[in-house]
Amino acid sequence: MFNSKLILNLRQFVVDRLFPIFCVECGQEGEWWCEKCRRKIKIKPITQGADGFLDGLTAFFNYAEGAPLAKLIHEYKYSFARDIEKLWLRLLSEAQYSVPMRACHFEEVLACRHPELSEGSPAHRRIPSSQMHGKNHTVVERCQDIFAIIPIPLHPLRQRERGFNQSEIFAKIILQELQDKSANTRLENKKFIRARNTRQQAKLSKAEREENISDAFLWQDPMQKAPENIIIVDDVYTTGATMQECAKILKQNGAKFVYGFALAKT
Ligand SMILES: [Zn+2]
Repeated sequence: MFNSKLILNLRQFVVDRLFPIFCVECGQEGEWWCEKCRRKIKIKPITQGADGFLDGLTAFFNYAEGAPLAKLIHEYKYSFARDIEKLWLRLLSEAQYSVPMRACHFEEVLACRHPELSEGSPAHRRIPSSQMHGKNHTVVERCQDIFAIIPIPLHPLRQRERGFNQSEIFAKIILQELQDKSANTRLENKKFIRARNTRQQAKLSKAEREENISDAFLWQDPMQKAPENIIIVDDVYTTGATMQECAKILKQNGAKFVYGFALAKT
């Protein structure tokens, strides 16, 4: 009888021979984006303050600067290259460590609910700012509020066609990362749905995008309001039309604070 590890290794060997992968940047065989190339890009999250219905945005990469990343996102979404997920996991976990939580504007939530921790207060002064926003003393840890992490939903038809929702994969990775930092988070991936099958946003102008996405989403639990604190997750943030529309619908249904997380921002 073969042991399962041997079979797995054998399977990987066959897959590697039949479907070799090459680094999107230098072409070296073996990885989607080799470590040498990856190291050249500094993972520097982009942050944005409150805008429209969104209370803040964090994106892990600049889409244009990370041209290899744009290729990878495209491969992942349209060529069903699911094994790129291992790379997302690595990139997001590396990036998370350098994301100061203030980038997510969580401290604004805190300032409303925990004034003793806001800037200038005696309690705040006792905590050096390096620790306030550092890995071990993130503001979100001090915040007792529960954050619901909601991936931007796909229409069921699109999801069936693709077989997965890339935003949900990112949402699960972010959930794990935040939970590892003791943040009070949970995944909400059932009640917020895309009720209308919209055209792909990528080829549309800003005005067309807003029109296309308008009223596409629905909070479908009439018995229960949307969570108060929400982080919505998408793969690429372009004009923000999709996230704005989601935040609008969620706030109409009871959400108080809606933050956006995107893998890349154009
Ligand atoms: Zn390379």
